[in-house]
Amino acid sequence: MKLERSIELYTKGKRNLVGSVNSPVRAFKSVGGVPIFIEKAKGSKIYDVDGNEYIDFVLSYGPMILGHRNSKVERAVEKALKKGYTFGASTEAEIKMAKLVCEAFPGMDKVRFVSSGTEAVFSAIRLARAFTGKNKIIKFSGCYHGHSDALLVAAGSGLATLSIPGSAGVPDEAVKNTLIAEYNNIDSVENHLANNNDIAAVIIEPIAGNMGVVQPTSEFIQELRDLTKASGVLLIVDEVMTGFRSKFGGAQELLGIEADITCLGKVVGGGFPVGAYGARNEIMEMVAPLGNMYQAGTLSGNPIAMACGIATLKELKKQNPYDKFEKTAAFLERELLAAAKEYGIDLQVNRFGSMINPFFTKEKVVDFKSAQTSNTEQFKTFFWKMMEHGVFLPPSQFEAWFLGTAMTKRDIYKVRSAIKIAMKAVAEKKK
Ligand SMILES: *Cc1c(COP(=O)(O)O)cnc(C)c1O
Repeated sequence: MKLERSIELYTKGKRNLVGSVNSPVRAFKSVGGVPIFIEKAKGSKIYDVDGNEYIDFVLSYGPMILGHRNSKVERAVEKALKKGYTFGASTEAEIKMAKLVCEAFPGMDKVRFVSSGTEAVFSAIRLARAFTGKNKIIKFSGCYHGHSDALLVAAGSGLATLSIPGSAGVPDEAVKNTLIAEYNNIDSVENHLANNNDIAAVIIEPIAGNMGVVQPTSEFIQELRDLTKASGVLLIVDEVMTGFRSKFGGAQELLGIEADITCLGKVVGGGFPVGAYGARNEIMEMVAPLGNMYQAGTLSGNPIAMACGIATLKELKKQNPYDKFEKTAAFLERELLAAAKEYGIDLQVNRFGSMINPFFTKEKVVDFKSAQTSNTEQFKTFFWKMMEHGVFLPPSQFEAWFLGTAMTKRDIYKVRSAIKIAMKAVAEKKK
């Protein structure tokens, strides 16, 4: 596999960029080797600067659900570009986008657009504190909610992969109001609620995607909703990854729960920087200018980003690819398990809608601890063999593979062949 030009750029980039990247997972640290540099992408394919072609399962960690440069989206973005980039005043596009988003989430009357998932989540936390007048929040071990200080504890993939317990530069005071519970363990939530009367909110990834894909059991998620409601604690559902991925709208609807505050990002911007948080009127009316919870942004609701988001959501709604995603994911699960069995490799596959995750372990993966039993050396071998055979996967055992609507049957058959070869390589390495 030729990677000379990527190696050249990686070396050159290190001079003025931190590790030659702008986000740590792009550094390929947990799989070793040099990170690839991208030249371009179209549809289901992405091309690196050495001319290697890959079927793209990273999809920019979710946003490119329609594949790259969908023609309708591209036209909408081009049209918006010609009118100007940002104005510091409102546009009609923001209203259209807000309507699309609010209609997709049953409990959402109003929404505020921001520029990233991180921003959406830390704003939602501030809002929950403003609304309840309380300070503490409960988060789950292995869930990632962006890189704001208060949430950088027990925070999943990026950190898990790098084996950093938290982050340097986060003062104890910043996390002293963050309580950690265990995913799929309602007792761990109940304990915190019983021992603290200052809890504003519980925040959760409805389907965890940042310790690898981990589903909540239906009892756990139902009990979590009932318990928070009964305790007067808000439930913040972080759908930055899951929003619009498993249905048009949120995973919470599929799970039969309704959030008090929903956070969005990734797909909602279709590849441009958009995040959002939304809730019922009573809660959103706390936010300035209606209320006294301050939150602002120079580029919030940016017209190009809104155009891209609107076009992406409209196209998604029209294509309604969710049954197809389910079938494709089921097919990949079968193929992964069959190949693992053939070559005597321990493997678990977790999936939900268009997110799928093989874990190299024999333990069932239900929380952060069980995810951590994965053999990351085996994943490393698997990852590079898949790359060699034209499949771009997230370079971490603990990141979901994302399906996109542009993937064809042919792509998926090609992936099946690559899986067999890669699993064989894992087995050979084991000997
Ligand atoms: C990606 C992600 C975030 C952070 O979003 P950014 O746009 O990277 O800031 C927050 N929560 C979840 C669940 C995510 O997957």
